[in-house]
Amino acid sequence: MDIGNHPTREQLIEAAQSGSDTLAPHLAQCEDCRLLFSLLTRFQVAGEVELPSAPAAWINRAAAIVEGATAGSKLRRLVGKLTFDSWSAMPALQVRGTATDERRLRVEAESILLDLRAEHQPNGWQFIARVVGDVSDSRSWKLHAAGQTVYPDERGYFIWNDQKPPQTIVLETGSLQIEVEQLSWTRHTT
Ligand SMILES: [Zn+2]
Repeated sequence: MDIGNHPTREQLIEAAQSGSDTLAPHLAQCEDCRLLFSLLTRFQVAGEVELPSAPAAWINRAAAIVEGATAGSKLRRLVGKLTFDSWSAMPALQVRGTATDERRLRVEAESILLDLRAEHQPNGWQFIARVVGDVSDSRSWKLHAAGQTVYPDERGYFIWNDQKPPQTIVLETGSLQIEVEQLSWTRHTT
């Protein structure tokens, strides 16, 4: 059976992203491309390698293709700036009785805001964060902090725990990344 030329990576990604069925005749006849296409389509949905039933070699191949495509596309990087920090608020403005083991931060990157609350508990730190502002779908974001990747819950909150607070937080959605770097957790006491 003559199945003609295999589609290029770009054509496969294009079709997986757009849902176009122009490759259908080839895919119907070519098992290799069909599997790759199905992996790519599922990557578009999940954005992650979560395909335990697929052979590892195929997952790796699909991941490499997606990474290649991402590297080639315009990845937008923004640096988030701290615009509020409860720890550095003027003492006169602090509410008496404010828990010293709690810190609230607001980070801004263009019109996107991240609100973060960190709470130091006896057994570690608990964090709750939320993306607000000019955001179409707050649940499409993921957050990286000290080696952990955190996904928002159904209300859009990122909730995680760690032994130490993170020095860098990276927010990611699609090809947009917001980095918050050099977070200091040394409290300035008066
Ligand atoms: Zn093929």
